Order: sequence, then structure tokens, then C-alpha cells
Amino acid sequence: MPDTNSLLATARAKLEESLLAKGLRRSSERFAILDEVYSRNDHFDAEELYQAMHQKSYPVSRATVYNTLDVLVECGLVIRHQFGDEDNVKSRYEKSLGRRQHAHLVCVVCHRVQEFCDPRLHLIETNVGNLLQFNVQSHSLVFYGQCAGDGCQTKPADESK
Ligand SMILES: [Zn+2]
Ligand SMILES: [Zn+2]
Repeated sequence: MPDTNSLLATARAKLEESLLAKGLRRSSERFAILDEVYSRNDHFDAEELYQAMHQKSYPVSRATVYNTLDVLVECGLVIRHQFGDEDNVKSRYEKSLGRRQHAHLVCVVCHRVQEFCDPRLHLIETNVGNLLQFNVQSHSLVFYGQCAGDGCQTKPADESK
């Protein structure tokens, strides 16, 4: 796995290139947001990112956070997940460079997101691809349930059906 600094340098170069290609302003805010994203290892939402920028005394507007996230998703530097169902979709983001493919566990009570890797998933991908003559390029797998984290006490409302 490449070290954090070279990863960030690669990400910055890619953002620079994409902003240029799209004719967008290469503002320092956009690069500061990228730095913040690449300093994190979690699955955050736009509001958390906005708050983190403010805590680091780097005030940016919500609009800038949202549209920079869109740009980062478009140029492949950030992955956007749509966790939940259609009634309650939550967009979560994570950096994409230097990450292994992984599956997610999403807690329906406290919304904590955990990730796991299991080589058997790759095996399934290969087997199903061969069997059905399908060139699998990627997959996403999300388990929904309740985590054992601190402060995750409340039972899901309609568990007992
Ligand atoms: Zn939980
Ligand atoms: Zn993830």
C-alpha cells in the first residue's frame, strides 16, 4: 500500500487535472477538502466533512463542500455510497485511491459503517462470472443490522414481525 504522502500527491495531481479539464476554478478550498478527505479512513457524510473543516479552522461553505464532493466523485477520487432504502437513503463518502475493495456493514440504529474484506467474495465473483459468461467489473455488498458499538442500545423498532 502506498504511503499517505504519495497517495495525497497523486490525488492532488488528479484533481488538478480534472478541474482543468472541466474548466473549474482550482481554488485552495477544493484542495483543502481533498486533503481532509484523504486524512480520514471512515465513511462520512457531507455534513460531517463540513463540520470537520470548521473544527480545523478552515471555514468553507456547505455549498463548496457539496459541489467539491461531486467533483471528487466524478473524477474517481471519492466513492459515493447510497446506503439505506429508497425511503431513507444516506449518502456516505470515502476516499478511493489506495483502498482495497471491501464490503460494508451498516447499522440501522446508530448508522455506524464498518467494513470488511473476505477473499471468498472475490472467489464468488470469479465463479459466477465464469458460469454465466459475465465480465464482472466490480460489486457492492452491504449488510444491514445492528452493531455492538457504545451507545447503540435501542433495538430496531419492527424487529419482531
Ligand atoms: Zn449501531
Ligand atoms: Zn468503505
